[in-house]
Amino acid sequence: MPVLVYTENAEGKFKKSTFEVVSYGRAVADQLGTSLTAISIGNVSADELAALGKYGAEKVLNVSNSQLKNFVNQAYASVIAAAADKEGADVVILSNSFSGRGLAPRIGVKLEAGVADGAVALPETAGNKFTVKKTAFSGKAFATVELTSAKKVISLTPNTYKVEEKGGGAPVEDFAPAVKESDFRAIVKEIVRATDKVSLPDADIVVSGGRGLKGPENWGMVEELANLLGGATACSKPVSDAGWRPHSEHVGQTGIAVSPNLYIAIGISGAIQHLAGISRSKVIVAINKDPEAPIFKVADYGIVGDAFEVVPKLIEAVKTYKA
Ligand code: FAD
Repeated sequence: MPVLVYTENAEGKFKKSTFEVVSYGRAVADQLGTSLTAISIGNVSADELAALGKYGAEKVLNVSNSQLKNFVNQAYASVIAAAADKEGADVVILSNSFSGRGLAPRIGVKLEAGVADGAVALPETAGNKFTVKKTAFSGKAFATVELTSAKKVISLTPNTYKVEEKGGGAPVEDFAPAVKESDFRAIVKEIVRATDKVSLPDADIVVSGGRGLKGPENWGMVEELANLLGGATACSKPVSDAGWRPHSEHVGQTGIAVSPNLYIAIGISGAIQHLAGISRSKVIVAINKDPEAPIFKVADYGIVGDAFEVVPKLIEAVKTYKA
């Protein structure tokens, strides 16, 4: 029952979620006592491809067909399914990213496989069962699904599995499956960046605001601090529920999970549901005027004070440091 992982890249660079997917795939392969192959589609350098071995891939299939330079759902799904056939893989794993959400069901149809989208934990494989814990209802709940088909497709929720280095280099093999014209019914002609902002799940620095900021008109300082640090902005659930910020910024159990090097929580109490989304942060800094706020229990650095005084001072300090 070999395992195949699809390793997503953006403009030739592997995404952070790719290393999570390979680490997760390694753990699944170990659980099943089998091997792990990675497939990459696009223009990734030979060194980066071989480095996937560090995360546990034993072999990397490299598809560098110029027709597949830009992401095309149907064609990518065909190529990944062809790789699964070639390797005899029964389990295909990919990220539950924007493209992964389109690919997983298509690969599932091609392989006649059961699909668990949005997995948040390793599968349970005791006995003859194969069950996966996953998010449901747009992340508002969890479900445990049993995949009863011989082949299985799992898409992993970003930032829910830790990256583990446990290997060396992996041999890279060119893979050139035939692609059909009918797989290119819609093609990407041009990609235009709508914003230079860092995407929240991939961000190394996140500046996040809660209800303590009182209203949407006070978000200027959150954005200014995030921009100065080259980070992304985020918020607690009540903030997005109130429409102060978009739902795409809502972090926590029912929102996005993040794993930045630095998470700055401003006017956020630290409710358990919020902490569920930030527990993989390396360093947490909390700014809160209540010294008893639960966020201080998980913070590496805490500033007890009024955000409207502390954050402007922090902004000035960063500006001075950068000058
Ligand atoms: P509050 O709890 O109101 O905290 C505001 C904080 O700001 C307080 O600690 C206060 O001391 C501080 N403050 C006030 N004024 C200032 C100031 N001037 N300067 C500095 N500090 C100040 N929440 C999430 O965030 N994410 C989730 O995914 C999520 N999922 C949930 C799922 C379920 C099923 C349920 C029941 C709840 C969920 N929640 C979630 C809500 C969660 O329980 C909390 O209600 C929420 O996180 C609180 O948001 P907050 O910290 O912004 O607001």
